[in-house]
Parts: sequence; C-alpha cells; structure tokens
Amino acid sequence: MKEIMENLKDRLKEKGYKLTPQRRATLDTIIENQGKHLSTEEIYDMVKKKCPEIGLATVYRTLQLLDELEIILKINLDDGCSRYELNTHEDNHQHHHLICVKCGEIIEVEVDLLETLEEEIEKNYDFKINDHKVKFFGYCSKCQ
Ligand SMILES: [Zn+2]
Ligand SMILES: [Zn+2]
Ligand SMILES: [Zn+2]
Repeated sequence: MKEIMENLKDRLKEKGYKLTPQRRATLDTIIENQGKHLSTEEIYDMVKKKCPEIGLATVYRTLQLLDELEIILKINLDDGCSRYELNTHEDNHQHHHLICVKCGEIIEVEVDLLETLEEEIEKNYDFKINDHKVKFFGYCSKCQ
C-alpha cells in the first residue's frame, strides 16, 4: 500500500501538484476500503473523520484528479452514483462486477473469458476492439 502512495506522489509531482493532507486522506480511505466500491458521498463521510475541515467539493475534485492520474478508476454500476476503486491492473483492464439486484452486493470477478468473444466480433464485424465493460446483474448467494 506504501507503493500506491509513492506512485501517487510521483504522478502528482509530474503534474505540478502536491500531496496535500486532503489528497492523502482521500486515497487512504479508498485503500482501506479496497473491494468496497464506495460512492463519492460514502468516501466523503469517511474522509471527514480524518480531515474534519474537508468539504464535499474538495473530495469530489480529488477523486476526479486521482481518476485522471489513473490511481483510481470510476465505475458506473447503474445505481445512480459514481463509485471508485483502486486501479490495480497494470494493463488498465479492470475486473468485471456481479451486481445483486436485491441487496446491492457487488462481487468482483477475476476471470475474463471475453477474448474469444472479442475475436469472434472482430472477425464478423470487421471492428477493432480496444476494451469492453461488462456488468452482470442477478441474485447473490444470500438472496437466491
Ligand atoms: Zn444479494
Ligand atoms: Zn471492483
Ligand atoms: Zn474483461
């Protein structure tokens, strides 16, 4: 986790930004909640505990900056809010998500069997694919 902070420091420096306590607290919160896919408001509520003087607008801007620097990724799970998670994939292809339509549980899927599908599409439609985004909706083990 130290690596992520060092990486952020370097990337901020490259762009002429500083690692302010607010930026550090925001990233810390995301690191501490890895795998949870927090929304902007949820992150704000947690960051406020570390930095009581921080405002929602600052958290919002910090998240946008971290997203731009590719330290975190914005994910849209069709639940009406932007959620964020750490960008843990070097090749920039993030894992896919299973979303329980009953309790809202979000499960990460590490297997990616879509290369074959991509090949098939590229061949049949003469279309060069760079990336794909997939969400699976259904019922988690507790809700079935
Ligand atoms: Zn569920
Ligand atoms: Zn995820
Ligand atoms: Zn994939």
